[in-house]
Amino acid sequence: MSNTAPFLLWFRQDLRLSDNPALEQAASSGRPILALFILDEETPGRWRPGGASRWWLHRSLEAVGAEIATRGGRLVLRRGKAEEVLHRVIEESGAAAVAWNRCYEPYAIARDKALKARLKARGLEVASHNAALLHEPWTVETGQGEPYKVYTPFWKALQAKPAPAAPLAMPGKLAFAKPLQGDALESWNLLPTAPDWAGGLRETWTPGEAGAKTRLERFLDSRIEDYPRGRDFPGEDGTSGLSPHLHWGEIGPRQVWQAVLHRVDKAGRGETAAWKFLSEIGWREFCHHLLYHWPDLPEVSWRENFRNFPWNEDEQALKAWQQGRTGYPIVDAGLRELTATGWMHNRVRMIAGSFLVKDLLIPWQQGEAWFWDTLVDADLANNAAGWQWIAGCGADAAPYFRIFNPVTQSKRFDPSGAYLRKWIPEIADLPDAALHEPWAAPESVLEEAGVKLGESYPNPIVDHGWARKRALDAFATVKKR
Ligand code: FAD
Repeated sequence: MSNTAPFLLWFRQDLRLSDNPALEQAASSGRPILALFILDEETPGRWRPGGASRWWLHRSLEAVGAEIATRGGRLVLRRGKAEEVLHRVIEESGAAAVAWNRCYEPYAIARDKALKARLKARGLEVASHNAALLHEPWTVETGQGEPYKVYTPFWKALQAKPAPAAPLAMPGKLAFAKPLQGDALESWNLLPTAPDWAGGLRETWTPGEAGAKTRLERFLDSRIEDYPRGRDFPGEDGTSGLSPHLHWGEIGPRQVWQAVLHRVDKAGRGETAAWKFLSEIGWREFCHHLLYHWPDLPEVSWRENFRNFPWNEDEQALKAWQQGRTGYPIVDAGLRELTATGWMHNRVRMIAGSFLVKDLLIPWQQGEAWFWDTLVDADLANNAAGWQWIAGCGADAAPYFRIFNPVTQSKRFDPSGAYLRKWIPEIADLPDAALHEPWAAPESVLEEAGVKLGESYPNPIVDHGWARKRALDAFATVKKR
């Protein structure tokens, strides 16, 4: 086939031009590049992007589309079942080669495997690449050739591997094929309109490769040294905020890895903080490792004895939790932060998650589903592993009997109440001592702060002491099995 037949570059969760191996291959092929993104809401089934992810995707496609346009190309947008669209695009364009960067959702793995075989059978050159992980999940294994089930040995094994490949630079010059007809991004209706609930997301985030780069640089310039301490305090700006950028591949973990280690100076200053941060990138790898080896992780408790756990279906309590109206300020602040910004601090994800599955005894999958719809960083691997960890039923999970006390956690990790006051203005005038558990405050203190429990702010929907005992009793029934 002649070199004028296009090279089809299929963008997916790799919405960047630097360190993009599929783009690198397309650019060096000598063929004109046809850049394509497919909105496939069918193949992922119930795991198609939720509301917050759809908002992010719109903005991210705008950003990568603009980058491609400044290089003289156009990102073609098509909607439909990915394999059908892909075959159609190949027919229309006469493409001779196709490349993409791998995704690790079970449905994506199955689809891509079948696609690769069919495209090869059609005589096309087909290649897939790793742009999303430091190392492929199947390359990290125990001495017995088994997948890891525990994080610490996994992390050690990851570190013992050759250093991740150096990130690729952005290709200098790109030659694009004549673009095909595509959809207008607006026609996909990814942005909310009636009502437009995305104001807080717009204020908080700048989706796209440039936004990701700025976030990383800001974090490295001002926060990383204090990360081992600061990462636990939701009232501080102590973490990187890179999760949605990593999810959509606007930045890759190899780029993060290299940039972080670059900051450690020759005397080794900053090394401890750097490795603490990289170990969280390691958690991301571990979650992907788990999802790859246990594809039903998003649906089914990993520990078999939890599969008949006596959960408590409670619509009303679930709603109160989702709306941030449980009466436990730290839980409510987290859920309100989530609704407003599409993100929740990790410490609070753990506290609020524990409250849902242990204090309310609501199945972890219901929390997972809410996060899926509302998080801008909703990620099948990280979300499923996070919920299974907090529910005590996952690989290397927090033991079920370790039940977070929302008041103790709140006092410990938000001692000044900065986080609570930001997200729950109706109790902001309470003194520090009363803020974490308003129901325990004397009536006069509540009155002075203008708080009417049960009216301006809810009474606790459940008593933690009682709920803790109920959870332990429920756990005793599965422990025996
Ligand atoms: P930083 O502290 O700056 O960490 C840097 C990066 O490391 C993150 O961007 C993320 O990619 C990775 N990382 C950090 N902590 C974890 C972790 N515990 N597990 C896996 N990767 C981690 N993370 C998601 O990206 N998507 C999710 O859908 C998601 N759901 C979660 C659900 C629950 C119940 C819990 C407890 C955690 C969940 N996490 C999820 C993990 C974690 O809370 C977020 O990755 C983190 O809060 C993102 O903020 P950051 O980028 O500022 O993190």
